[in-house]
Amino acid sequence: MKQSSTTARTRGRKLNKTAAAQHRTGGRQAASGENSNPRANAGSASGSSSTNSHSSRTNSHSSAGQNTANGVAREHSHSFKGQSHLEKFFLAQLKDIYYAEKKIIQSLPKMQEASTTEQLKDAFEDHLHQTERHVKRLEKVFQTLGQKAEGEKCEAIEGIAREVDNIIEETEEGTLTRDAALIIAAQKVEHYEIATYGGLVQLAITMQLHDAADLLDKTLVEEEDTDALLTEIAENEINLRAEHEGGQEGQEEEDENEEDEDKE
Ligand code: FE
Ligand code: FE
Repeated sequence: MKQSSTTARTRGRKLNKTAAAQHRTGGRQAASGENSNPRANAGSASGSSSTNSHSSRTNSHSSAGQNTANGVAREHSHSFKGQSHLEKFFLAQLKDIYYAEKKIIQSLPKMQEASTTEQLKDAFEDHLHQTERHVKRLEKVFQTLGQKAEGEKCEAIEGIAREVDNIIEETEEGTLTRDAALIIAAQKVEHYEIATYGGLVQLAITMQLHDAADLLDKTLVEEEDTDALLTEIAENEINLRAEHEGGQEGQEEEDENEEDEDKE
């Protein structure tokens, strides 16, 4: 998970074929100072014809959370009131994922300590640091919306966290089977995050919350990247070696029994 952000973004782009990816392309260009407009890109995917109305916002789009050069305050932070049904839902989902990210910060050290291979330990450690940044990024999203950052209990992440505890309890320490199981649990977390961030990016684009969309999309790319890395570790290292665990002891016992029978 130590790839450069460019690699991560490139990979994320390959993975995501939705309108979010189109938004992302715009977001990247904005981040690198190029002229861009994510809404315009997203519009082409969603059939929107409002491209022109957004092009005037290009400058404000690339200066998250600040006033624009000509002193005009960012439009969206004033337009988001948290009052409409969709705004309320958006805010509730933000609180859900904020809670989830914080819960993941509690779970990852446990997962790191429980894993067998250094490779998986490193991956969990890297993702812990990344997750801490996801929390900070969400706080920025709340800030751009003029809302207080707060979590709301996420039952889904609580459930997966319990699953992690069960895996640690039910698998043997020092086995590759434990790592294979921990990877699957970690990927369940990533997929939950990907679903949530993916949906939030789409909603932010719809509501023209450009800064929020950019911030959420950065995290979405990192979650996708983590998911891909976990698949890579499982396929290249862990699963094949885990396949033969446990069977050998049984085989040895069988061999011993056969030997005993031969002696009789
Ligand atoms: Fe995260
Ligand atoms: Fe994650």
